[in-house]
Amino acid sequence: MKKIYGNKYLIDTFDKMNINGKTAHALILYGERGSGKKLIADYYTSALLCERTQNGKPCGECNSCRNAESHVHPDVTYVKTDGKLEGYSVKTAREIISDAFIKPNNSSGRKIYIFRDCRNMSVQTQNMLLKLIEEPPDYAYFIFTAESKYEFLATIISRCICLGVSLCTAQEAEISLAESGYNETEIKKAVSCFHGNIGKCIEYISDEKIRSQIDLTKRIADSIIKGNEYELNVTFYSVGSERNELYSVFSIIDNLVRDCAVLIQDKNAENIGCFRDSALALADIMSSYQAIQIHNKIEEAWKAIQANVNASLAVTCLCAEIMQIRSKKF
Ligand SMILES: [Zn+2]
Repeated sequence: MKKIYGNKYLIDTFDKMNINGKTAHALILYGERGSGKKLIADYYTSALLCERTQNGKPCGECNSCRNAESHVHPDVTYVKTDGKLEGYSVKTAREIISDAFIKPNNSSGRKIYIFRDCRNMSVQTQNMLLKLIEEPPDYAYFIFTAESKYEFLATIISRCICLGVSLCTAQEAEISLAESGYNETEIKKAVSCFHGNIGKCIEYISDEKIRSQIDLTKRIADSIIKGNEYELNVTFYSVGSERNELYSVFSIIDNLVRDCAVLIQDKNAENIGCFRDSALALADIMSSYQAIQIHNKIEEAWKAIQANVNASLAVTCLCAEIMQIRSKKF
């Protein structure tokens, strides 16, 4: 079974639930993308299905554990998303509701439904699922993962146990990546960018596209530092209009301005973003207020893109706004 780094509190909570026979039927696991929510969902799933748990922990060796880990257990459903926005539709919710009332056929007598990466789930879908999680069959369990618990309606949140998944330390990330067989140079580069976010470190090492995205974002940061609006526009434009790519670039720049705001207050503070040197350079030319203003503009631009505003237009506006904020003295 894959070792989980950090999040000891969560694992202890699950183990205690299992020992006391009070397992949560509806769970929301929330945290940054790459923080290990899916791995933790897999742990809880194995713990619910394991044929011989020890101190509440899944054994990792029985058929149920092995099938759960390889995502082939017949009583675990990884609910599929559909549509352009990759959300969970009303049709899917209806199918899950009918399936949930068919009894399980495994020896643990449980059925588990996992809704991964919940984002923009419609009110209608959530209301349908609410009825199910309010009064679930005894054997049914529902696990939702999302970047924020506020992706869900208050009524859903109140029916679920909500647990935040934290990042591990940079040192733990290094150990975990070395155990997975990555080489030292790759690990060092990845951890300097993504710190204790193991998921993003792996993406960085294994995906050429992510590495070029990071290079591109570094050039965006340099253009802001130099105050070169033309270069900023051209570089931002080359990201393209694909939502997921824009979202990653927006997040990296947002972390950069967050780091800048923190480093203005304390030059030795830890950074969460990819480029410590760029954040320090920005901290020399901007005030915290300017950094926060840029953060707000990034958020506005992202909301506009989600509301179907033309991506190039939103990006052009954002570049102009960033430059205007950068050049003002507050
Ligand atoms: Zn087992």
